[in-house]
Amino acid sequence: MYTKEKAKGLQSATKEWLEHKEGLIVHTNNLENLRDILRFHEHRYYVENDPLISDFEYDTLYKKLETFEKEHPELITKDSPTQRVGVTLIKDFPKTRHLVPMLSLENSYNEEDLKDWDRKAKEISGLDEIEYTVEPKFDGASISLIYENNLLVRGVTRGDGEIGDDITPNIFQIKSIPLSAPFDSKNIQQIEIRGEILINKDNFKKYNNSLMEEGIPPLANPRNAAAGSLRIKDTSIVRKRNLEGFLYHVSYILNVHEPKNETILTHSDMLKMLQEFGFRTPQHELKVVKGINAVIREIEEFEKQRDQLPYEIDGMVIKVNNLELQEKLGMTSHHPRWAIAFKFKARQATSKLLSVEFQVGRTGAVTPVAKIQPVAVGGVTVSSISVHNEEYIKEKDLMLGDAILIERSGDVIPQIVKSMPDSRDGHEKKIVFPTECPACHHTLYKAQEEAVWRCVNINCKAQVLERIIHFVSKDAMDIKSLGEANVRKFFEMNLIKDIPGIYELDFDTIKSMDGFGEKSISNLREAIDKSKHQPLHRLIYSLGIRYVGETTAKTIAQHIHHILDLQKMTSEELMKMEDVGVKVAASIHAFFQNDDNIQMLKKLEHLGIEPEAKQLEKIEGDLSGQTFLFTGTLTSLKRNEAESMVEKHGGKILSGVSSKLNYLITGEDAGSKLEKARKIPGIKIISEEDFKKLLSI
Ligand code: AMP
Ligand code: ZN
Repeated sequence: MYTKEKAKGLQSATKEWLEHKEGLIVHTNNLENLRDILRFHEHRYYVENDPLISDFEYDTLYKKLETFEKEHPELITKDSPTQRVGVTLIKDFPKTRHLVPMLSLENSYNEEDLKDWDRKAKEISGLDEIEYTVEPKFDGASISLIYENNLLVRGVTRGDGEIGDDITPNIFQIKSIPLSAPFDSKNIQQIEIRGEILINKDNFKKYNNSLMEEGIPPLANPRNAAAGSLRIKDTSIVRKRNLEGFLYHVSYILNVHEPKNETILTHSDMLKMLQEFGFRTPQHELKVVKGINAVIREIEEFEKQRDQLPYEIDGMVIKVNNLELQEKLGMTSHHPRWAIAFKFKARQATSKLLSVEFQVGRTGAVTPVAKIQPVAVGGVTVSSISVHNEEYIKEKDLMLGDAILIERSGDVIPQIVKSMPDSRDGHEKKIVFPTECPACHHTLYKAQEEAVWRCVNINCKAQVLERIIHFVSKDAMDIKSLGEANVRKFFEMNLIKDIPGIYELDFDTIKSMDGFGEKSISNLREAIDKSKHQPLHRLIYSLGIRYVGETTAKTIAQHIHHILDLQKMTSEELMKMEDVGVKVAASIHAFFQNDDNIQMLKKLEHLGIEPEAKQLEKIEGDLSGQTFLFTGTLTSLKRNEAESMVEKHGGKILSGVSSKLNYLITGEDAGSKLEKARKIPGIKIISEEDFKKLLSI
């Protein structure tokens, strides 16, 4: 689809659009050109993994299109890049019949299975040797897409194989799936394409972390995450999951006329066609080989790279390459005879639940951790597994002494899939939750809307220790030579009592300890010193404020010069930052209202912790130093427009009437704020007109 020439053309058009920011105006003539440019860059980013422009540049172009389409809604097309966004709340997923049934695959687990299968295929076809393709078996949720007259019209789940759920609005959220493709160039009027929707390992990890941050048990594997995401009824949430789509099969084609002569003869060519039409396919991973022995070699090679892949696979799929031969081999009622799945060794194992320990985290959350009979799974030995919270234990029906099935997919933390209550012998015991903190014996509390019990003693030793461990960790201040083990050791010896204590370490005492030589001490000293000038967002993240993950910390760092700026900000001001909602803002606010925290930050500063802050443009304007508040309905301006005008001129918006307020702007039906302001001397109460004069607009 994107030949070199075409790509070159689109890239130089991109430059033009970006350079002539004001000059190149969207109008009906170049509207489709702008859309093509956006589609091209989406393809580079999501399908090729090789973007040519920055996110910011993409956003600039996107906004241009969006603004134009808002003014001319009659010109919006179904496959315009803007049509992916917008929030759709789905009522239910209508049932739809597949054009061709979606069968499952026969499974094989060893060489013998594969050789048997090959023997049968040779018998039926009468051939001595068959050409096969070998491709990854993606571990996600299968999907069937229908395009009509070049447009994506439907996305359907497998369902029972005959009838699935129409989840089209959610498919629109997957950026690697094109909303249109030039099928007409091959006289194709309707086409049904099959593939897999998945979530890559990175995004899966992020998603699980965000769940755990909220006290919700993480999902066991990316497959569940992908399948679950496709069934969410709010498209804006689906979009945030960053799903990806790999297409690997065409199940039906309706041609308008006779197909063009270059009829496709093989599976590998079919994938090539899909790729040329802009789809993401296993083209790069695909191997075409002759005979089953070569297939076996490819599988062995591939399995070695399994852990390096960005997404999870649970085996390989072997297909007969020649399409005519596929037809000849046909299918049983369950699966095609021309394809077979080879399953990799399961990353599941059985074990026994021996005991449960209760650990106190840095936010005071008490997490039950199951100690299990050590068992090897996915290449590592697992002996303890988090069981998250009481509800989870109930849901999984876990008892001490139970036989359990555990799973560890990829580098994901291991999890209990289920218990096996049928094999109980009566000696199993109930798991009893403590009522007081195992570390400091403070009574535990549980908030109504939460699933976790917490120790609310801020000085709880277990929490302090976890906070220090978090502070030095890789994604936080990254003090490598210190590390968790040393922190634990130093904490136990009272060498570090709190976070500032890291910067007051008594190296003389450490020198006298076993295992610390000159070299390791100088490394330690250097690592600690270096961390003093980490970027500001790392310091913010390292404080372990609830709900403030790395992304939020980065956002916040963009808006402040100094960590203590946050002390002066109201929740409303915090919520103006993108991605900071009510809950996050409240949590940050609470952290910076706590005097112990402020004292700690001041101490850190005193000890030389001077993070590198982004140099923000300080807004100086004619309103600088002045504070404003609006009340009632404005007639000629929108409230948020008016507020941002104040900020552009250097003024500040306050959240309520107080003696700090300089101007109260009153719109129609001004209410209690006006009454309150009248009682405080010094507040200027002005009309919308006066306000505009003040800004000279
Ligand atoms: P199973 O669900 O274990 O019976 O495996 C069959 C399923 O594997 C198919 O229905 C597809 O959803 C999925 N699958 C994953 N990757 C591929 C692939 N490359 N080719 C065909 N099927 C695949
Ligand atoms: Zn405690």
